Amino acid sequence: MDLRRARMEALPSERINRWKVFERDGWICHLCKLPVDKTLSGLDPGMASLDHIIPFNEPDSPGHVWTNVALAHLRCNFSKNARTRQEDWSLHIALAVTGKAPPPGRLF
Ligand SMILES: [Zn+2]
Repeated sequence: MDLRRARMEALPSERINRWKVFERDGWICHLCKLPVDKTLSGLDPGMASLDHIIPFNEPDSPGHVWTNVALAHLRCNFSKNARTRQEDWSLHIALAVTGKAPPPGRLF
C-alpha cells in the first residue's frame, strides 16, 4: 500500500491552471525569491514548476488546491524535499486570505 498515494487521493483536489499560478506569483520562486525564466522548458533545473507548499505527507496538508501551490524553480522544488517551514505555512495562509503571495521578505 502506497501511503503517499492514498493520502493524495484522500486530500482535496482542484483543477489548477499552472500558468495562472505562475502569473499570480509574478514569476518569482517562492523558495529562493529569485525570478524564474519563463522561456525555459524541458528539464532545465531553472524552469518553472508547481510546488505544493505544504507537502502531501504533512498531516495537515490542504491538498492540491489553489492556496497550496506556488511557483518554484525545478531545482528548488527538488531540494526542498518534504520539509515544511513556518514560512510555507505563512504563504499558504496569505494566499487563502489575500489571494496572492506577500512581498519577498515579509511574512504574513
Ligand atoms: Zn528558486
